Parts: sequence; C-alpha cells; structure tokens
Amino acid sequence: MNRTAKDMSETRQPVLEKLRAFLQDRQWQQYFSEHEWQELCGLIQAENAVLAKHLAYWSRLLTSWDTRSLELHRPVYEQVCEILALVLRESEPSWRQAEQDALRLALAETQVQLQQKQLLFWRFEQEQKQQRVATLAQENEQAQAEVYNLSELTQFVGHQLKGKTELIQDALDGLMGVLDADWTALYIYADPAGEQGTFYTLRHESFLSHADFPFPHSDFWDRFWRGPVNQTYIHDEPLPTSDLEALFPGACSLMAQALKMPNGGRGLLLAASDAYQAFSGFRQLFNIFGAHLTSALQNAHLHAQINELAIRDALTGVFNRRHLEERLDYSFELSRRYSRELAVLMIDIDHFKQINDTYGHPFGDRVLLEVAQTLQRRLRSTDIVGRYGGEEFMAILQETGAGGAQTVAEDLVRKVAELRFKAPGGETVQVTVSVGFAAFPEHVMGLTPLVKMADDGLYAAKNQGRNRVGFTGPAADMLQ
Ligand code: GH3
Ligand code: MG
Ligand code: MG
Repeated sequence: MNRTAKDMSETRQPVLEKLRAFLQDRQWQQYFSEHEWQELCGLIQAENAVLAKHLAYWSRLLTSWDTRSLELHRPVYEQVCEILALVLRESEPSWRQAEQDALRLALAETQVQLQQKQLLFWRFEQEQKQQRVATLAQENEQAQAEVYNLSELTQFVGHQLKGKTELIQDALDGLMGVLDADWTALYIYADPAGEQGTFYTLRHESFLSHADFPFPHSDFWDRFWRGPVNQTYIHDEPLPTSDLEALFPGACSLMAQALKMPNGGRGLLLAASDAYQAFSGFRQLFNIFGAHLTSALQNAHLHAQINELAIRDALTGVFNRRHLEERLDYSFELSRRYSRELAVLMIDIDHFKQINDTYGHPFGDRVLLEVAQTLQRRLRSTDIVGRYGGEEFMAILQETGAGGAQTVAEDLVRKVAELRFKAPGGETVQVTVSVGFAAFPEHVMGLTPLVKMADDGLYAAKNQGRNRVGFTGPAADMLQ
C-alpha cells in the first residue's frame, strides 16, 4: 500500500507533538550541547528514515553520558525512552520495516543502556555508601579516641583535690602525652598587661615553675591578653617572632588558649611541637581540656581557701589549736623517726585580763593580733605558730635544740616588750609575754612530756616575775 506524505505526517502527528513539546521545554536543553540540540530540533522536519537514524544517534548520544551524572540525567533518559516507544507504537504499521527495525533497535538500545547505567549508578551509589560508612567508622574511631584521650586527660585534673602546682604539673604532663607535644606550658599572669606572672613549663620530663617570669610582649602574644578566653589558636608554621623562639626554641607548631583564672586574672595554656602541623586534629580536645583545667584550678583555689579558713584562727591569723596539734604530732613523728631535734615554746601574755579590763575587749583583741604577728615575723618559715588558748600561743621549732629554743624564746620576749600600743584614751601601752620551752631529744623523749615541760617552764617564768623565759628541765638552775 502506497502512502501519501499527508498520511505519513498524520501518522507521525503524536510523535511530532511529543517531540515538539520536548524541544520547547527549556529544562531538557541543558543536557545537550548546542550542536546536539540543533540536531534534535532538525528531527521535526525529518523524513521517517532520517528520523529513525537521528533517534538512533540520539540514543547513542545519551548512552555516552557519564554514569555519575545518571541521577541528574535520569529524567531526560526517561523522556527519550518514552518518545522512542511512542515513535515505535505510532509508526506501526504504516512505516517501512527497515525504519521500524531501526527504531526498535534504538529503543531497545536506549533501554538497555538505561538499565546498564542504572546498574552502574546503583553500584556507584553503593560504593559511595561504603565510602560514607568507612568515613563514619573512621570518624567514630577518631571520636572514640578523643573521648578516651579526654577521659585520660580529665583524670589528671579530676577527682582528687590537689594543690595548685601539683594539679598544673599533672595537667601539663597528661596534655603532653595525649598531644604528643614537645612542650606544654601554662602562664598565669599577675598583672593585667600579662608582663609578669608564673610560667609553668613541661619539657620532656622536666617540670619547672618560674615565678615573676617576664612574658614576651608582642602583638603575637598580646592578642591573648586582649582577645576572648577559651578560644583555641593554632599556629602551624615555624614560629614567627624571636619571642616565641625564646619560649620554645625550634618549635614548628603551637597551640594556645587563653583561660580565665580563679582570681579573676588570665592564664595561657600552651602546647608546642618540633613537628609541623602537629595539632590540627586536636583543636577541640585542647579546647575542652582548657575549660576543664579552668574549673579544676577554680576548685583547687576554693579548696585552698576553705582549707585556710579551717586551719587558721580567725582573730590572729595564726594556726588554730586543732591544726597546731596535728602539726605537732606530725613534726614530732618526723623528728623521732629521723633523729632530728624539735623544740616547743609556750607563750602567754602577761596580765592580759588587766589589759582587757582597763582598755576594753576590742583593744585586747588588737594586742592579741599584734603579738601573734610579732611571733610569726620572728620565727622561721619552717616553724609553726598557733593560738593554743585565749592569750596563749605555741611555737614548734623544727630542727632546733635547747640552745636555739632558749635564744628564740628570749628574742620573742624582747620583741613583744618593744611593742607600743595606742590605747583608746591616748596613752601608750606595753605588753609582755612569758615563755617556757623544752627540746627533744635533749630534755625529754616523748611528746606529752615535751609539751608539759614547756608549759611548766611558762609557769616558772610567771612565778619568777613574768616578761621572761622559764625552764624546768635538767640544769634549770643554769638558766639566767
Ligand atoms: P597571767 O599573766 O597570769 O597570764 O595573767 P592573765 O591575766 O594574762 O591570765 P588570765 O588567764 O587570768 O586571763 C586571760 C585573759 O585573756 C582572760 C580572757 O578574757 C582574755 N582573753 C582570752 N581570749 C581573748 C580574746 O580573744 N580576746 C580578748 N580581748 N581577750 C581574751
Ligand atoms: Mg596570760
Ligand atoms: Mg593564759
């Protein structure tokens, strides 16, 4: 059967409409090069044979696209398959066999390609998922390591209450291990400009604490005194200024973070390494650790304050009786174990009742404070002085024998007698003390007899007229 051109165009009508709609829809153009698009537009005018050829070309064109962009190109593939199917359906039976075969082939090819591409794409997706799983596993491992590191680290600053220096040493030590750093350091400055303070450093095994350390002053460092606290700064190149060279000679990486200190001042936590880019993975860890150290230092500070309150006498500031006795027991134990000398002084203000009665209790309090401070000033820092009772003090003199104890006792009597007080009425008042002493092991071998002998010496001094040193031990008559 012969067909006219009109028949053919009628037959092709739905195909052409579909193609026209496709070519007018701007969204499809983006998938093709300009040349490809021109070719497609030419299809509308084409004869059947040419149309089939072009469709086959089109199908090959689509199959040449990159697999990875399949997801992106899927809509246009589907459109093409739809058009090819339509062409095939509408053409029958009016098209020549050769044309139909070409079209069928093109459609089949496109569909196979599409399926293949889908398979490839699915594999690609699986690979991506696997990659993501691997990355997640790696991240998870890293996170676990960080949690582990952090819990390791927090142990150094955590649970038990430590003194400030011990705490800092442990923290720097822990930090060094976890960061694999060559230096860790904490600078706590005393003045707002950050020029003077204490610099704690750990280099290899050696922990040092430098008091009154003149911290380098430069734009590089100043940012930490002025900038926000708790922000981690990483410097990953050879350190830029001579200031840095002075602190960490030869370091190639630095990590730093300003911290708020318990007394309201600032600190600077530092880690440095000989290696380049040593700290890039540790920013968060360092940051959290800094916050942790801040609160541990705060705790230590509070604890020290509470401790001080618990062991000091509120009026005079010297140790209270409870602490005094603890220290006495401990000192005596050490002296006995290591065969060292230990002396005890009992000191009592003379006629103190009279001072209270004459000038009033507040004046008496002032006298007590001044006498306590006088004792404290005269004694060595290793000696221990505390308030034993109302107007009675005890001093524990480490590594001191009878002769030394007598000298100190006499000196204390003299020093107190030199004090001058202005009474509320305006007159000048003087006070005196009587002092008894005893020494281990020269005079007695036990702690209770040691204290008793010192006490007896005090009463001997009272009986002998006060404002003097008394002694009741062996060769007491030698004492003048
Ligand atoms: P002596 O020379 O024999 O030691 O005579 P004294 O008056 O010092 O001794 P006494 O034991 O008779 O009196 C001690 C006085 O110390 C009585 C008490 O009111 C006073 N005192 C004790 N504690 C305080 C205190 O905290 N503040 C003041 N102002 N006085 C106190
Ligand atoms: Mg007295
Ligand atoms: Mg007394």
